Amino acid sequence: MAARYLADADVSGKRVLVREDLNVPLEGGRITDDTRIVAAAPTLRALSDRGAKVIVLSHLGRPDGIVVESLRLAPVATCLAEVLGRPVLTAPDCIGPQAQAAVDALHDGDILLLENVRFHKEEEKNDPGFARALAQLGDLYVNDAFGTAHRAHASTTGIASYLPSYMGPLMARELEVLDAILSDPHRPFVAVLGGAKVSDKIGVIERLLELCDQIVVGGGMANTLLAAEGIDVGKSLRDPDLEPARHVFAKIHEGHVRAHLHLPNDAVVAKELKEGVDTRFVDVKHVAPDEMILDIGPGTAEHFRGTILHAKTVLWNGPMGVFENDAFAAGTEAVGQAIVDSGAMSVVGGGDSAAAAHKLGFAAKMSHISTGGGATLEYLEGKELPGVAALRQAPPA
Ligand code: ADP
Ligand code: MG
Repeated sequence: MAARYLADADVSGKRVLVREDLNVPLEGGRITDDTRIVAAAPTLRALSDRGAKVIVLSHLGRPDGIVVESLRLAPVATCLAEVLGRPVLTAPDCIGPQAQAAVDALHDGDILLLENVRFHKEEEKNDPGFARALAQLGDLYVNDAFGTAHRAHASTTGIASYLPSYMGPLMARELEVLDAILSDPHRPFVAVLGGAKVSDKIGVIERLLELCDQIVVGGGMANTLLAAEGIDVGKSLRDPDLEPARHVFAKIHEGHVRAHLHLPNDAVVAKELKEGVDTRFVDVKHVAPDEMILDIGPGTAEHFRGTILHAKTVLWNGPMGVFENDAFAAGTEAVGQAIVDSGAMSVVGGGDSAAAAHKLGFAAKMSHISTGGGATLEYLEGKELPGVAALRQAPPA
């Protein structure tokens, strides 16, 4: 069964429970990147305009099943209200009498953001009792939380067993963009991979080797691949387990892949990761045992740029270096600029990659900034996302 789309639902006067991914980065209580809030806003505005009582569910951070004051959704509600230009009500919990009272007080068109669902340990366990308690608050369920669709939690999957369920427009749009890339990309199709989450991402390289024409790799992922080729990367961030990386090379050597894999030849290294530290450019074969690779080098940046400039489609996930520190931002800046200059249809996935695109001023020039990181990669790997599967299996309206 295909998932039903929210546009087809009759929502007027109904209590509509909408799962969004409003998990934004916070620093000292301040939201440092509002991409996910801005992305969710049109869904919520449209529901409100259609006369629904809009009840929003989200998680924030990793409170691990207890109430963590600094992870309350209040700053998110304030930001969402600013983006929407209309009030956003809040409640101190997401289930139970306080949540029920807040829902009972809603008028048609009102928007209520319930408290962080991960304050309850049952959320991440996909506990049926908790899912039912959430479901009691609504007449319909909408999953619009693409960024969390790869997690089988109560508010993303379990709840769909108890209510007529629909796919939200943000989720639908994200899947549409990825489907276009997966089924019929304009070629050359270039993937730009980097970042820190190495073991999570190695699976996607194997899939991208079949889909893409060129793959350029920087960040911790490149360090792991270099190490698997026998290069000593010193103290660099890398996956201690080199088996998956060796498997990638075995596949390439067998010749069963489409893409050409480009690894860094040179790097920016330092002995420590801190402001004002001494850095040097070095051939990747000459990294000292006490040094770390913290960015791709200028030769590699130039080579990656040349590859990216030919692209008609680019998928970018993961910064080339520790871009948060200006000394190690040049590589990420170079690939971002090359993506813009290529004029390719460009999709950026991953929270830190989106943050880098904003910080370095490329965000508005990308075709699509995905609200998903892990979800984007798992979908590209060919896995079915539990949040989407649950919508297909939900009871009829
Ligand atoms: P995304 O959130 O886009 O999926 P990741 O979470 O995998 O990306 O990684 C982002 C982080 O990777 C950034 O904070 C950046 O500082 C870090 N990073 C990139 N290159 C390196 C490197 N060579 N060594 C250590 N950290 C790196
Ligand atoms: Mg990240």
